[in-house]
Amino acid sequence: MPGLDTLKEKVIAAVEAHRRELIDLSLKIHAHPETAFREIKAARWLTEYLEGKGFAVERGICLLETAFRASSGDRAPRVALLAEYDALPGIGHGCGHNLIAMASVGAGIAAKAVLAEAGGSVVIIGTPAEEAAGGKALMAARGAFDGLDAALLTHPGNRNASITHGLACIELTVEYHGKAAHAAARPEAGVNALDALVIAYNSISVLRQHIRDSARIHGIIIDGGQAVNVVPEHTAASFLIRAEDDEYLDHLKPRVLACFRAGAEATGARLEYCWGDDTRYRAMRSNHALAEAYARNMEALGRQVSDPEERHSMGSTDMGNVSALVPAIHPTVAVAPPDIPIHTPQFREVAASEEGLEGMLDAAKAMAMTVVDVLTDADLRKRMQEEFHGK
Ligand SMILES: [Zn+2]
Ligand SMILES: [Zn+2]
Repeated sequence: MPGLDTLKEKVIAAVEAHRRELIDLSLKIHAHPETAFREIKAARWLTEYLEGKGFAVERGICLLETAFRASSGDRAPRVALLAEYDALPGIGHGCGHNLIAMASVGAGIAAKAVLAEAGGSVVIIGTPAEEAAGGKALMAARGAFDGLDAALLTHPGNRNASITHGLACIELTVEYHGKAAHAAARPEAGVNALDALVIAYNSISVLRQHIRDSARIHGIIIDGGQAVNVVPEHTAASFLIRAEDDEYLDHLKPRVLACFRAGAEATGARLEYCWGDDTRYRAMRSNHALAEAYARNMEALGRQVSDPEERHSMGSTDMGNVSALVPAIHPTVAVAPPDIPIHTPQFREVAASEEGLEGMLDAAKAMAMTVVDVLTDADLRKRMQEEFHGK
């Protein structure tokens, strides 16, 4: 077998050889933003491209029209590169998922070029609806990530990091059913569903004082009543509850629900609620052994990777659900200064800029180099597994 360095040089050259095609693909997705589960064009363009490169493509996997799997080889070890391609409503590719797709596709093509020498197989898994709808949560439950040795996805951002954190997250939707009445002539005949919701909202504000710093509870009122001169008979709200680990999230759930029950108790409105168990995001568990390999490769490309112990503010990602099943990493690449955070119109511009595209070509190279490490290094795979199983 050729040396490790030779294989890594080959994957770097393979990404370079596809640079123009990868950039064009990414810009095309950027110019046609599609939101959760409607990524019809993006999924078509990505699968057509991968088919053209000799991957065996399955479309509509896991009962999701815009999910796909593109595989090369079927031998162990098996490494997956995950692609996201959904946009944000109203803001387009303000999270840069067009770049994520490009990086994983580029890494997959590069890894495929050395499979005969490195052994094993590589699969690109297209995972729709990362933004709020939890595509990977559904796919994890439907077996999309079974039988893998590692899973990687690199997100564009404000720093080069190999280890990132993501909070466990669950949605709670609530409705109150009260009784309508004339708000001035017969208020005593009404049951006020908005009062119930306001009491719940305030109770949650009180609860926040007494939970861990890292936990988050935030929500919006979807329906606050129908007419100003009618006692509101129906209200609805949606809340997200987030915590650093799944256990603490489970601890918070009944405490948050108690706040909503308090609103019902105080007003007499009837509470209906629903936990979003299907799309619950698990906390991200970065595999340190895999992250170290990735960081070494990224540094070899000339990007200084930040200290793994550094903690930054965090949201949630459905990659957490993958990391609960497979040794996984969700690194970030610095493509924008810290004052341009993701989910902004400014970051949308970055996602089509030279800096964004070049950064994610580096991500493609670093991921492909890491695939080479995983496929060729049995000791690394053992350390990843031991860490994953907590040995
Ligand atoms: Zn996002
Ligand atoms: Zn994102």
